[in-house]
Amino acid sequence: MNSNYWLGKAVVVTGGARGQGAAEVLRLLKAGATVYAVDVIPDDDPLWDALVTAAHTSGATLIIRVADVSQESTWTGLARDILEAGLPLFGLVNNAGITLRKKVTETSAQEWDHLLDINLKGAFLAIRALAPLMPAGAAIVNISSVAGLIGYFSAAYTTSKWALRGLTRAAALELADQGIRVNTVCPGLVETPMILQANVVHNAEKAQLFHQGNADATLLSRGADPDEIAAAVVFLLGPDASFITGADLPVDGGMSGGGVYWRIGKGTGDL
Ligand code: NAD
Repeated sequence: MNSNYWLGKAVVVTGGARGQGAAEVLRLLKAGATVYAVDVIPDDDPLWDALVTAAHTSGATLIIRVADVSQESTWTGLARDILEAGLPLFGLVNNAGITLRKKVTETSAQEWDHLLDINLKGAFLAIRALAPLMPAGAAIVNISSVAGLIGYFSAAYTTSKWALRGLTRAAALELADQGIRVNTVCPGLVETPMILQANVVHNAEKAQLFHQGNADATLLSRGADPDEIAAAVVFLLGPDASFITGADLPVDGGMSGGGVYWRIGKGTGDL
């Protein structure tokens, strides 16, 4: 990739304050992009400090947008401000998401709606508002999950992550003639605050079992660093991925690519 590619270009990353979103913002700032980071975390929260410093150091611009992705007004307002600012919008990462480790029979209708509003409707609203601003060559990445590729016991979460892959397909078809690519990244376990919080809700023993179970079903036997996901996202956003659209990219250490049979093969002694 031309190292100047992101100079003078804007990108929107949702859930940019921490975890994978922050890693994506950091990479894009270092590449010189003007980054709009949309998150519900207040802009005076120390979580933002490292990104603000990175923007100063790299001479790039970070615009923190404290807003909820599930609200239409977030997107009408942001689209208006990006247009007014005048920089071309070359990227959108629909990364914001919440989890809920509850099975179908444990999930209330309210919990279901809340999760789908953030994980799925947020991405739909973002694409609907921002795609009309994007020039040919721009790209969109939706963050799904391995839970969007295989069965997972977290019902609303799994549903939202499968549906995001459908949204990716629909948008890829619709935006192809505009020269905009749309893809999905499906991370495996990533060591972020989301995982820590989900595990706090459960007990320490369960958290340990969850991590161990993931490692046992992952060819690389570990979870990812957020930056390992960000690398794939920034690749898909950029010109090196110019012939990739409507695709799902697992970034999961091989969990979906054979983790189950790997574990079985270990058990039988075939591996
Ligand atoms: P995280 O909880 O650390 O970060 C998520 C960010 O989204 C937070 O900054 C949070 O404030 C923000 N957010 C939540 N609700 C929002 C809303 N309504 N509007 C705007 N921002 C909101 O989680 P993460 O692990 O970095 O997850 C990032 C994405 O990756 C999520 O979509 C998640 O489902 C997905 N994912 C995570 C894992 C994992 O193991 N951590 C695995 C697969 C997929």
